[in-house]
Amino acid sequence: MSIQVLTVLGSTGSIGVNTLDVVARHPDRFRIFALAGHKQTAKLARQCIQFRPDFAVVADEFAAADLKAILAAEGCPTEVLYGRQALIDVASSDEVDGVMCAIVGAAGLPSALAAAQKGKTIYLANKETLVVAGELFMETARANGARVLPIDSEHNAVFQVLPRDYEAGLDAHGIDSIILTASGGPFLDKDLTEFDSITPEQAVKHPNWSMGQKISVDSATMMNKGLELIEAHWLFACPPDKLEVVIHPQSVVHSMVRYRDGSVLAQLGNPDMRTPIAYCLGLPERISSGVAPLDFETLSALTFRRPDLRRFPCLRLAYEAMNAGGMAPCVLNAANETAVEAFLNKEIRFTDIAPIIAHCLEQKFSDGLNNLESLLAQDGYARKQARDYINGLAK
Ligand code: NAD
Ligand code: MG
Repeated sequence: MSIQVLTVLGSTGSIGVNTLDVVARHPDRFRIFALAGHKQTAKLARQCIQFRPDFAVVADEFAAADLKAILAAEGCPTEVLYGRQALIDVASSDEVDGVMCAIVGAAGLPSALAAAQKGKTIYLANKETLVVAGELFMETARANGARVLPIDSEHNAVFQVLPRDYEAGLDAHGIDSIILTASGGPFLDKDLTEFDSITPEQAVKHPNWSMGQKISVDSATMMNKGLELIEAHWLFACPPDKLEVVIHPQSVVHSMVRYRDGSVLAQLGNPDMRTPIAYCLGLPERISSGVAPLDFETLSALTFRRPDLRRFPCLRLAYEAMNAGGMAPCVLNAANETAVEAFLNKEIRFTDIAPIIAHCLEQKFSDGLNNLESLLAQDGYARKQARDYINGLAK
């Protein structure tokens, strides 16, 4: 077995930490080439001391000076780089086999795309890459022989139960639909009249999963499932009308595939991201992940129901953006990132998030050239429109 050389982008986040937990269990399989942790220098320093990567990447020169000082004091030889280009460089270096893309938001797109251009194995947690640039990213990966492996638990579940050569087409394999399960988040049964007063602290408390703040708010609005619909659309070349969402509050069935003959295949497991991470990192072998076995004796009932689009208008907006295509998903994502950040900063109410996104989707936007520059320009423009709308709310 040859050692796989990895770059972990977003190593200090929830997915990054789980990735390094799996990597640490298999020192004979993996070597870390680079870690990227933005502004979390103390945490990144501890990871560098443990994994001894060649490079560590942070956001700016201040974070770099900070990290260098800690590493020098510890005698850690890791070289410190900073800035966007450095992320691209460590994602596309000739020395790297695989890149874990676990930065949060559209900020993760340029480095993920760079890895695709260099034909790397891409462990894709950053769903926003596919929402903003699904067509461009998948085309780039295909043209350069980059393998895109889904880390997102639902997509990983689908990937596990699809036939190996699913790329030949879902129809050819007798697949009727892909069913994404959704927990429904912390407000699945909350009185709708109380939604106005939901605080960030309440919104980030997910009932089953421990995740970063942004995706936790997305789960509470169900925008997360909306983003995941668009993610599945591109990953599996699945037409929008063959994508279903089903609420499953226990988060044990991670997603399903419905076949023409009436069979439905599902993947089950405890809600722990180390399972999808280990599945992808180990391919074609199954490797240990540290995840507790699913205990059927203590398992509560598994229940399923239909999502309520009145309770979760963000999910409806995502459906609309997916169906509209073109730049609409890019606008949806940019507006959502801006709104979620404003909500976390207590500038707006929970119930303001959907109207901000709806406002941005109603504006005129470009038909879009399918390249990074025009996508990023549209992203910036939509963020500004969302910002202006938020500033108007405050008056
Ligand atoms: P997180 O907030 O815990 O971590 C984000 C990471 O990105 C951190 O290392 C942070 O330092 C870095 N980062 C933040 N802003 C950055 C920027 N502008 N430039 C470069 N780096 C930056 O987030 P997370 O929960 O680990 O999620 C990461 C990605 O994985 C997201 O796209 C999320 O949707 C996806 N995902 C997460 C989970 C989960 O269980 N946490 C599950 C499925 C998919
Ligand atoms: Mg998911």
